[in-house]
Amino acid sequence: MHSKPNILLLYTGGTIGMVKDFKTGALKNFNFAKLLQRIPELKQLDCNIQTASFEQPIDSSNMAPPKWAKIAAIVQENYDKFDGFVILHGSDTMSYSASALSFMLQNLNKPVVFTGSQLPIGDLRTDAKENLITAIQIASLQNKTHPLVREVCLYFEYKLYRGNRTTKISAEHFNAFASPNYPPLAESGVHLKINEDLLLQNNSAQPLKVSEGFDDNVVIIKMFPGISEQVLTSILNTPGLKGAVLETYGAGNAPTDIYFISTLQRAIERGLHIVNVTQCSGGSVNMGHYETSTLLKEIGVISGKDITTEAAITKLMYLLGQQVPPADFKARFEEPLCGELSE
Ligand code: ASP
Repeated sequence: MHSKPNILLLYTGGTIGMVKDFKTGALKNFNFAKLLQRIPELKQLDCNIQTASFEQPIDSSNMAPPKWAKIAAIVQENYDKFDGFVILHGSDTMSYSASALSFMLQNLNKPVVFTGSQLPIGDLRTDAKENLITAIQIASLQNKTHPLVREVCLYFEYKLYRGNRTTKISAEHFNAFASPNYPPLAESGVHLKINEDLLLQNNSAQPLKVSEGFDDNVVIIKMFPGISEQVLTSILNTPGLKGAVLETYGAGNAPTDIYFISTLQRAIERGLHIVNVTQCSGGSVNMGHYETSTLLKEIGVISGKDITTEAAITKLMYLLGQQVPPADFKARFEEPLCGELSE
């Protein structure tokens, strides 16, 4: 392996590279080249950094599957030239993008680290510098034969997480992300401590394969006491709808009312895939544990186990896009593709 790792830094948009508009005071994206001017410290890192940018950087609220495909294509085009990839991305939808990319980039054996910040890089109190510098250091880590981290991760406020296990938890604190059901892969303090036994071990000699095609005929339905039959029926009868993530209570519980179960059952009989995830911020769905989830299990609702809503919706879109045969769909969803849920 060459002495200094080569890192590609891709700016997709987000606060990290934003400035205040003089007139309106609103934050908007600025030229990425200026981002590097603002962090001369990057030159001190023990790696070679090259940069790329979306032609039109976006606020991540505008993220969508075609842009995931664009990120994946940039990684694929540059895969052989670089040892690691750092994706600068707005924090608002970063967990969705990290989940989507984890499913798309098959046989990945190099790090793809998402990061961003809560305050712009030029702000005196910015969190951007630490996030960026440590994300690059993590992407540069090598053991003797290969990069140490070989999966899609998210680095924010001193912690490296598996990307598809994360969720944004704060619009205020620098500590903006959590990984409720999987411990951090690394922690940055005085030392950078990597929990190697938690990392995905991709020992496949297969080349990187990018699987595209997300089917957006999906919906997330969050349960609340009082959800009406009319609302539920009209959502599930949306023309073209193929899948729904149902955010249920606790360990996967939902009303036992006849209308509720029969509306879901009819949808499943029509071919819809319904995934049960918990609306709790941690823990797992366990259908059959309570009477209030037994019927869901009986009618064929898919268990999302301890998956996040972000990973569940992107996995649903991904598997639908891969045209997984209906008979295999439930089993495919319930097994991990890349560490997004526990077995
Ligand atoms: N609205 C911004 C975005 O997600 C927030 C951020 O960058 O953290 O693009």
